[in-house]
Amino acid sequence: MRDSATTPADDGFVPLRVRQVVRETADAVSLVFDQPAAPEFRYLSGQFITLSVWIGGTEHRRCYSMSSAPALDEHLQITVKRDRDGVVSNWLNTSVSVGDELHAAPPQGRFVMSSHARELVAFAGGSGITPVYSLVRSALETTDRNARLLYANRNRDSVIFAQNLTELQERHAGRFAVHHHIDDQDGILTTAQVESFAPVSSDAEFYICGPGPFMDTVEKALLSAGVSAERLHLERFTVGQSASQSDGTVTEAVTIELNRRTVTLPYRAGNTLLQTARLGGLKAPSSCETGSCGTCMAQVVEGSARMLNNDALDEDEVAEGWVVTCQALPTSRTVTVVYE
Ligand SMILES: Cc1cc2nc3c(=O)[nH]c(=O)nc-3n(C[C@H](O)[C@H](O)[C@H](O)COP(=O)(O)OP(=O)(O)OC[C@H]3O[C@@H](n4cnc5c(N)ncnc54)[C@H](O)[C@@H]3O)c2cc1C
Repeated sequence: MRDSATTPADDGFVPLRVRQVVRETADAVSLVFDQPAAPEFRYLSGQFITLSVWIGGTEHRRCYSMSSAPALDEHLQITVKRDRDGVVSNWLNTSVSVGDELHAAPPQGRFVMSSHARELVAFAGGSGITPVYSLVRSALETTDRNARLLYANRNRDSVIFAQNLTELQERHAGRFAVHHHIDDQDGILTTAQVESFAPVSSDAEFYICGPGPFMDTVEKALLSAGVSAERLHLERFTVGQSASQSDGTVTEAVTIELNRRTVTLPYRAGNTLLQTARLGGLKAPSSCETGSCGTCMAQVVEGSARMLNNDALDEDEVAEGWVVTCQALPTSRTVTVVYE
């Protein structure tokens, strides 16, 4: 299989040259790119880029978090774990060589370090280690913060950055502790294990990234143990697709205002506002499509919508009618949405 390098005509994608391919585990690979000179490619630990790759003549766009840390690594790196039967992750694991060019849209995302000098307590599962590894390294090497990491994997062989994490722990003894949770020997992570790893009384900030059920367990355990939502930072790589409206309301039309153009579109049940905009031929902004990054946010100025997932907007924004359109389903007969 050999494709890609077709340049998307727009959307700010630029070619990134692969300078190194590092096999991390049997099913994960790191790709190191020549750091682009463009200032838009400066990034913060925890952010991601969107890749556009062509496979079998079709364009696919996927997000990948930087596993490199901006203040510590000269070049931008992502780490991709194979998804069973996944199109892009398998292609990136098998078909990319040094010297290839992949097209990327600039870094974005809100899963970044806050300005508080609090301890960083991180929970990562599987490929969710990528942004967390960057955050932890940045915290330890560029601030006075302490850090703790619980890293869950199905088995020992799938632990990414195992050696690097051990070295980090040795170098920052007393400031950093990593606990590997291995499902094969420890079972699936439980609420009690989350609580014992992260005592609630601690004045810490919590970062969670991993498979949906893992994130749900950690989030629920921390919230029910009294951690306030403002101290939780979540990055979802996927969200479960669900459900149409629950109260029987039938949405007939969605009006969308974007780039000084207003279009009214018929609504197809089950579609998000973003999908509706696309079906109407609008180039609505989007990126992660999991409700994490906020790129697709727009304001509902008439009617109503509910979000399947929202890790990007705070309560005030939601109260003002802002939604992440990739996760928003209309809940009124008509809805009017205005993009920034
Ligand atoms: C903000 C963000 C950051 C991310 N960072 C990383 C990262 O650092 N590292 C990383 O590895 N990943 C990361 N991801 C996930 C990544 O973007 C991709 O989602 C992942 O690589 C899978 O893509 P894929 O093309 O291989 O799989 P896809 O082809 O999209 O398939 C995904 C899964 O769905 C299943 N599937 C597909 N179609 C169907 C169907 N019709 N019916 C049933 N099942 C189906 C596939 O079998 C597969 O298991 C991130 C995602 C986001 C949103």
